[in-house]
Amino acid sequence: KGFVHYTPNVGILPLRKTLAEIILRDKNVSYDPEKEIMVTAGGQQALFLTFTSLLNEGDEVLVPDPGYGQYTSGARLAGAVPLPVPLIEGHNSMMDLAYAQDLVSPRTRMIVLNSPHNPTGGVLTRGQIEEVCDFAQKHGLIIVSDEAYDRILYEGEAHISPASLDGMDKITVICGSLSKTYAMTGWRIGYIAAPPELIAASIKVQQNVLLSICSFAQFGALEALRGSQESVRNMVGEFDKRRQVILEGIEKCPGLESPVAPMGAFYFFVRFNVPEFTSVQMCDYLLDNAAVAVVPGNTFGANGEGYLRISFATSYEDCCEGMERINSAMRKLLG
Ligand code: PLP
Repeated sequence: KGFVHYTPNVGILPLRKTLAEIILRDKNVSYDPEKEIMVTAGGQQALFLTFTSLLNEGDEVLVPDPGYGQYTSGARLAGAVPLPVPLIEGHNSMMDLAYAQDLVSPRTRMIVLNSPHNPTGGVLTRGQIEEVCDFAQKHGLIIVSDEAYDRILYEGEAHISPASLDGMDKITVICGSLSKTYAMTGWRIGYIAAPPELIAASIKVQQNVLLSICSFAQFGALEALRGSQESVRNMVGEFDKRRQVILEGIEKCPGLESPVAPMGAFYFFVRFNVPEFTSVQMCDYLLDNAAVAVVPGNTFGANGEGYLRISFATSYEDCCEGMERINSAMRKLLG
């Protein structure tokens, strides 16, 4: 159809309109597609544009630790200072707000929320989201809500966006992505839903970064959002089967502690019981002895030391085979 030219910096209007409809349907927040939605090159660029547009040199950002690495590096890239906040284990990976309270200073501008959470798979309840919102309001913070895994949920869990709580859309930036929902990571399509001032600032930044997002990927995204959603339901069912296999594999495996099963996303964050190994050494050992790649927990922040992340974004067969190999290698190591 000849959709091979530049598009508006902010993204094509039909896609922004469809995103606004879907955000209203799924998250119960109303955004004006003309002024409050921007198409980005993945969730990653949504975060980049948000940090670059909102943060000044020396501003502080509360980030979950463990958490997705870009919260720290993206904040630094914008000249800001990340303040890592530990998660409370066994509480859906809720950030420890009492700890965060002690970190907050007049320079603190932002708190980053990620539910479902990478790397732990924790999904926050409405009550917990309310606590974060109260905290943000009390300290005059913007909430950046990374909702990359909003459609990958298990056991009937629901995703709650902080923007859906009373008046919170005025101080929340949703950074969304189509990558995980539609297995289209290579298409690079995500979005920002936020107050018009942030979108206006992000457009200025975009003018200097990409000019505009790949035109035909935007039309592909439109098809994904408007078409049958059966593939999404099927894929989440498939992830759930893999989740069970990994859970059983971890429970049987010496040296790996029984984890809290993830309620969203597609990762297990597992503590290992090999005191002589750091996270990196543990992962190197598994790579060398089991030919299985897992991610060292400290990649996600200092509090991830002693953990490793297992992803099940690979086939069911590879999940089974991978867990068997990890089991043999751990038996060899622990005698
Ligand atoms: N946010 C989280 C928590 C992620 O795990 C990822 C990718 O793994 C992203 C954002 C970025 O994804 P994308 O840029 O493909 O949308």
